[in-house]
Amino acid sequence: MSELSKLAEQVAACTKCILSKSRTRAVPGEGPENAQILFVGEGPGFHEDKQGRPFVGAAGQFLEELLAGIGMKREEVFIANVVKCRPPGNRDPMPEEIEACRAYLDRQIELINPRVVVTLGRYSMARWFPNAKISAIHGQPRKIDGRLIVPMFHPAAALHQPSLRKDVEADFFKLPDILAEFEQMENNEPPPPEAEQLSLF
Ligand code: URA
Ligand code: SF4
Repeated sequence: MSELSKLAEQVAACTKCILSKSRTRAVPGEGPENAQILFVGEGPGFHEDKQGRPFVGAAGQFLEELLAGIGMKREEVFIANVVKCRPPGNRDPMPEEIEACRAYLDRQIELINPRVVVTLGRYSMARWFPNAKISAIHGQPRKIDGRLIVPMFHPAAALHQPSLRKDVEADFFKLPDILAEFEQMENNEPPPPEAEQLSLF
């Protein structure tokens, strides 16, 4: 069994915080073990809690549409959350719950070793940008510890707010270029002359 599967088993049995008492199933996350992109949401909602899978409700459908817009499928990316168990009634996760769950996300990042982490929503953003405002920094990649972290609005918030929806769509459309430019930088290749200069980071 892979380390990532072992981790998922630990999450499924975890009782490190109070969310373990009300969950139906823990939601460790899913995707290829060598995914280049990791999406980090907030926490499971109603449907995720029932199925034990991330982003399977309305927000998940929107996420899949956004991915399709850049020619990607959800099976190609890893999808995880800041807390692995559903906060009752979809309330915000508490600081102590985020802290209790943090080691699982840390280990996922270490094992998957993605080039790009896309944070969806404030709680996920706060792990890398503790004092930032999402309205100020969404869509702007930063290189942190050898990865690109790209903060974005949460699809559930964007789903029903036309202005946020436009922002999240525009941010998503930048992802392929961001990924390509980062890969080039990592390989120390000079950019091809016709490449659009993004100079994002
Ligand atoms: N919203 C999240 O943040 N995560 C999920 O897994 C589903 C909805
Ligand atoms: Fe454990 Fe995280 Fe679930 Fe809390 S939310 S019980 S820390 S897996």
